[in-house]
Amino acid sequence: MSDVAPLLQVEDLTKHFPIRGGVLGRVQNYVRAVDGITFDVTKGETLSLVGESGCGKSTTGRVILRLQEPTGGRIIFDGSDLTTLSKEELRRRRKDMQIIFQDPYASFNPRQTIRQLLVEAMAIQNVVPKDRRRERCIELLEMVGLKAEHIDRYPHEFSGGQRQRIGIARALSVEPKLIVCDEAVSSLDVSVQAQVINLLKRLQRELGLTYIFVAHDLGVVRHISDTIVVMYLGKVAEMGAKRVIFDNPQHPYTKALLSAVPVPDPKRKAQRIILKGDVPSPIDPPSGCPFHTRCPFAMERCRIEEPPLHVLESGQKVACHLAEDGPVDYDRLSVLAANGSGPR
Ligand code: SF4
Repeated sequence: MSDVAPLLQVEDLTKHFPIRGGVLGRVQNYVRAVDGITFDVTKGETLSLVGESGCGKSTTGRVILRLQEPTGGRIIFDGSDLTTLSKEELRRRRKDMQIIFQDPYASFNPRQTIRQLLVEAMAIQNVVPKDRRRERCIELLEMVGLKAEHIDRYPHEFSGGQRQRIGIARALSVEPKLIVCDEAVSSLDVSVQAQVINLLKRLQRELGLTYIFVAHDLGVVRHISDTIVVMYLGKVAEMGAKRVIFDNPQHPYTKALLSAVPVPDPKRKAQRIILKGDVPSPIDPPSGCPFHTRCPFAMERCRIEEPPLHVLESGQKVACHLAEDGPVDYDRLSVLAANGSGPR
């Protein structure tokens, strides 16, 4: 997080999906996929949204781009409130905000060559004159590490990593400012993941891009993030600068996610928190702290009182009662919990 004016401000964003039932198809309940989250993204930085599946991170990315309509809150992008734009205004702004999916193949038309699918994106947004589009396709392919000779091939002729490069080229074809990378490297082998992340970092440096990186694995986002937002049941559990979150996580959920990331540091093992069970249903989230059903440090008040986001001196924000008076001493807490005398 920096003093530079943010490119994107997300304020109290919510997305509740109605659940209809009965003969009349009336709304009977809601899936609270995103439940009041607020953060800023500075131009040129990478903010990562992290959490287990069902925590609302992918929905957050899609709602920011208005691929799904928000239920409430504001999304201020480059000076305009996206939530109030008409469909036509939004179509014009769409070129500034692109998305890369986990499986780019699913979003390609298998009958289109790479040139056709890149040109299609340019034509919709009319960003490149018609007579320059082929040349631009070749530039884009070379930018993402592919070759000019690939231009007339079909998507099925490429490997998973190459298809993801094509997905990146397609996103770049309209010269965006912000790209949401939605689990963009999750299905790739570790070595290919590293290559794609390095490519994204290089493109960010060269083109001044801003990324929102959605991932379930903190290990994956380590090398690309500036800021990390850990989400649980549609809310922010903890957020802060990457270094602070990795060096001194303060929310038990962040600690649990981090303890699943392999590190060559035997001291970390002493603080290992293993998550039991699955994320509860966002249709009927737990009362009080949403994490209390799985938290090894849960106290009586956690079942009743929802913790606010406490701001610590390090700048990180933590939605946990344990952090209300400052940083948590996890070494002490872990010993107490192991002895059965932890906070109750
Ligand atoms: Fe655990 Fe309570 Fe903190 Fe929630 S508020 S994370 S239940 S200690």
